[in-house]
Amino acid sequence: MIEIEHLSKRYGDTVVVDDVTMRVDEGTITVVVGTSGAGKSTLLRMINRLVEPSSGRVLIDGQDTMAIPEDELRHSIGYVIQGHGLFPHRTVFGNIATVPRLLGWDSRRIAERVEELLHLFQLDPAEFSEKYPHELSGGQQQRVGVARALAAKPALLLMDEPFGALDPVIRSKAQDDLLAIQRRLGTTIVLVTHDMEEAFHLGDRIAVMDEARLLQYGTAAELLSHPVEGFVERLVGTADRPFQLLSLARVRDAIEPGAVGGEPIDASTNLRDALSRLVWTGHDTLPVADSSGAILGRVSIGGILAHGRQPA
Ligand code: ADP
Repeated sequence: MIEIEHLSKRYGDTVVVDDVTMRVDEGTITVVVGTSGAGKSTLLRMINRLVEPSSGRVLIDGQDTMAIPEDELRHSIGYVIQGHGLFPHRTVFGNIATVPRLLGWDSRRIAERVEELLHLFQLDPAEFSEKYPHELSGGQQQRVGVARALAAKPALLLMDEPFGALDPVIRSKAQDDLLAIQRRLGTTIVLVTHDMEEAFHLGDRIAVMDEARLLQYGTAAELLSHPVEGFVERLVGTADRPFQLLSLARVRDAIEPGAVGGEPIDASTNLRDALSRLVWTGHDTLPVADSSGAILGRVSIGGILAHGRQPA
């Protein structure tokens, strides 16, 4: 768990992070979102002390980060930046092996770890280990960047606009891959982005920053249903709110009584996907089944749309 307490950063007279307090639970993804210059990167970089706080403190598992030697702290926290930041003159293997080598792992353990990570990121070790960054596509470079950050099995991963340099299709795939890997490894992630859709897609919790201040911190559902008036409300409004609300709810939340023909939809499907199925197959309603295939009722386009409306 990370506890950020009254954390501030000043450069001269300018306050770039102003009294931020927030808690990040273990094994979750927290997304810090806001426009450029809001102070997001500075907040992130105060967690691994790339930037020294002016006041306030950061506790990791109860320990003040100021009490941890800088090198030890940085090696125990993964860090990924936009455009991946790979070392151009090191191979994929050499890049991923960076921190384990600094930590003095033996070569066999390093080789096994690199191979494991390449598999995890769907890069065939035989093909990719000896390649240099410039021989990879943008998406592949990005995956190697994340693999490198995870190499020494950090419990915490900091990501600063990690998908910012990717085109939209690859970006969406990279987001899904990150979610799958995070769910599997249980790594705690704090990720910075300016993209509200990305925040909703990835964040277990979302922290909205503007002009150095934390304006709201909550789940996607809380931000969608009760955004703080002003900046947060406008930012949330950029993210296709009805569809975000539908993504958060499940078919089981919209079941209506009655029987109907057609291929059943699983009750755990999110309403956005269910709506897409209905529209695509030309049905107004379809049966709903649980995981064992038992029919629970039906779901209709009208019933789904009600879940995408502005909360009363
Ligand atoms: P964001 O990540 O939200 O775009 P940053 O944390 O990078 O915002 O920057 C917040 C503000 O702090 C910006 O106005 C930036 O110019 C300023 N800033 C960042 N680093 C420094 C620095 N080393 N010296 C002076 N000002 C800085």
